[in-house]
Amino acid sequence: MAAAPLMPVETALARLLELAGQTPIDACEQVPLEDADGRVLAEPLRAGFDLPPWPNSAMDGYALRLADWQGDPLAVSQRIFAGHAPAPLQPGTCARIFTGAPLPDGADTVEMQENAQVGDDGRVRFVEPLERGQHVRPRGQETRQGDQVLPAGTRLGPIELGLAASLGAAYLTVRRRPRVAVLSSGDELVEPGQPLQPGQIYNSNRRLLLAWVRRLGCTAVDAGILADDLQRTRETLAALGDVDLILSSGGVSVGEADFLGQVLEHEGERNLWKLAIKPGKPLTFGRYRGVPLLGLPGNPASTLVTFGLLARPYLLRRLGVETVAPLGFTVAAGFSWPKPGDRREYLRARLENGRAVPYPNQSSGVLRSAAWADGFAEVLEGRTLAEGDSLRFIPLSELLG
Ligand code: AMP
Ligand code: MG
Repeated sequence: MAAAPLMPVETALARLLELAGQTPIDACEQVPLEDADGRVLAEPLRAGFDLPPWPNSAMDGYALRLADWQGDPLAVSQRIFAGHAPAPLQPGTCARIFTGAPLPDGADTVEMQENAQVGDDGRVRFVEPLERGQHVRPRGQETRQGDQVLPAGTRLGPIELGLAASLGAAYLTVRRRPRVAVLSSGDELVEPGQPLQPGQIYNSNRRLLLAWVRRLGCTAVDAGILADDLQRTRETLAALGDVDLILSSGGVSVGEADFLGQVLEHEGERNLWKLAIKPGKPLTFGRYRGVPLLGLPGNPASTLVTFGLLARPYLLRRLGVETVAPLGFTVAAGFSWPKPGDRREYLRARLENGRAVPYPNQSSGVLRSAAWADGFAEVLEGRTLAEGDSLRFIPLSELLG
């Protein structure tokens, strides 16, 4: 019997995003700006005033009314520093002005000091032709009062926080942090700090997922290890408490005693997807006592790829983020791919002179490939490539933040 066709990555992502839309984490809280990094804006940010509130100088120089400049030097009638409110400009004079200082009423033009000659009498002559409005930042050039500056669903980072601060926002309304339980499955796993017995390996996914989930603005709940044992799997899940998502890795390989699956079938729901993705392939979406669960494959590079391309957008969509797809760009293949695959491959690759060069060992067990890489070079299923052909490259920096 022919094997069931693998589920394309887009189909899995579309399903996950639909499921995410059905269980939004929509409770909000107000947080001071200093605590808002990495959070998701719950209400649009609007400008309460025109920014800048008044026209100001883009240069250190002289402010004048262009019509007053007929070629005869102008007297300097005031000095205006940033932070000071000027008097109206006396007709027929100019004002010494510094960057960011408000233009005095009546002035419409700024000349930079490098193009001004100050005579012995203190009068100023401009040596270059002047254009009305030059070096003036007009009122409202950044935003007008009432404009939506950031839409709801924006992920807040340094730029957004700077922008909110420029509008005087001391607090922002953000979605509450989702609570994500992270579970690693397998009797072979040992934590760093413990000695390794024969057959054991250190648990890498636990650290990888806990740190990543936190970067996405979630509260990571370290739920430890799921033992390869039905009763203990039951107990571990029952002890999880109140979480918004259960994220497990491992325990979904073919041929493995499928304890997590058995528990989900009794106490929730389980969908086992075979994805056209490499590394990766088996992915569980389920519910445990109503709580959504994502079961990622256990090999560390598979965990990485499936979390980055599927779990991350799923989580962000639950937080109301609209654009959850990572930005990718087209690069040239620095390798050839003579044999078409039936799964979409995400090669851990570096960019060298605009070409994607894969790490020599692409085994799903080799996490070092990703530490070495700048991102994923995407080779579509059914595709062959010659060196120099175009492919999409997804930087890891897009996925990790
Ligand atoms: P599994 O899906 O449980 O069969 O896991 C597939 C492979 O990934 C096995 O070689 C596991 O030992 C390995 N693996 C599973 N979980 C982890 C983990 N948390 N850290 C490191 N390797 C893991
Ligand atoms: Mg296992």
